[in-house]
Amino acid sequence: MSVKSRYAEAVMNTFGPPKVALVRGAGAHVWDEDGHEYVDLLGGIAVNALGHGHPALVAAVTEQLQTLGHVSNFFTSPPAVELAEKLLSLTGREGRVFFTNSGTEANEAALKITRRTGRTHLVAATEAFHGRTMGSLALTAKAAYREPFEPLPGHVTFMPYGDAAALAAAVTDETAAVILEPMQGEAGVMVPPADYLAAARRITAEHGSLLWLDEIQTGMGRTGRWFAAAADPEVAPDIVTVAKGLAGGFPIGACIALGDAAFLLEPGNHGTTFGGNPPACAAALAVIGTLESEGLLERATVLGEKLRDGLRADPRVVEVRGEGLLIGLTLTEPLTAEVAAAALAAGFILNNATPDRIRLAPPFVLTDADAEAFLAAWPAILDAAYEGEK
Ligand SMILES: *Cc1c(COP(=O)(O)O)cnc(C)c1O
Repeated sequence: MSVKSRYAEAVMNTFGPPKVALVRGAGAHVWDEDGHEYVDLLGGIAVNALGHGHPALVAAVTEQLQTLGHVSNFFTSPPAVELAEKLLSLTGREGRVFFTNSGTEANEAALKITRRTGRTHLVAATEAFHGRTMGSLALTAKAAYREPFEPLPGHVTFMPYGDAAALAAAVTDETAAVILEPMQGEAGVMVPPADYLAAARRITAEHGSLLWLDEIQTGMGRTGRWFAAAADPEVAPDIVTVAKGLAGGFPIGACIALGDAAFLLEPGNHGTTFGGNPPACAAALAVIGTLESEGLLERATVLGEKLRDGLRADPRVVEVRGEGLLIGLTLTEPLTAEVAAAALAAGFILNNATPDRIRLAPPFVLTDADAEAFLAAWPAILDAAYEGEK
């Protein structure tokens, strides 16, 4: 029996059936159990920054496991301290870091920080995605994700993303924090107006509220910058959460609190067994070091432009968005499921984020040849999806 067919009898059905069972990866390519090869243009949803099996990542994790694999939080280890220092230096600010194992846990830590302001009201955006645990879910807009689990904790006001006037109207002197993604990834890479995040900073400052940027998808070089907005002095958030690409696929997240917000959680306020474990931190340091030494942020900018230009050339694409290697596009018709299926059949992995919005978040090691092969196949992929509909 194939892995794919065994799945349904053993693995809980929370995701629906897997499209294929993947057994191997190298660079930006993966192979399924039947031997089919795919170009991975999704990178495990903006996670596999260095692609699959990168030697620097393999070596870092292997050496760290051979040296020291786990310590409890009664102790610390060099990789955790070094990674915290590195993340702070990338923000260009003073602060403190709390390590977790995932994005949603980074957001839970941040949510606890907001409670220590003495306020409980939170403001989040429509179409926002912040994770699936109860606190993060309370900040996630999508009704289908929320409703089966209500009541959710806290007092949250949702306002339209990208609308500074709506944000100003939602924030009061009771507001603990505003949480925003610099670009909304799960919504299909929605990009706000240029001055939106700076406006969010001004509005939160007026009310003594924290500005919390969820850079779990947009951070760690994905947009061609270390952070999409967190290092912008006009935005200067109080809290930044990162995860996904941080360790290139090794599970880790981080809640980075900056300025005075760094001291809101006190001893005993929060904890985790695995957060900040040495192999995960060593993996993150290897990813960051490789992105730096191989000039991969610049590469993301150049490759992203090339992909966006090629995608936009087809008249069935009405809009192309994003920066670096976080790419979203909208189709003339709600056919993204058909497009993703046609792409898979043609040997390319991409994501139907919504019925009419496609998302790409390929590894930074995607080659020009792979990008060109995909752009050459793109019109025929759209033909297959659009013709199937007639
Ligand atoms: C993926 C994501 C999360 C949740 O991260 P997990 O590791 O899946 O818990 C939260 N916020 C944003 C913006 C994300 O893209």
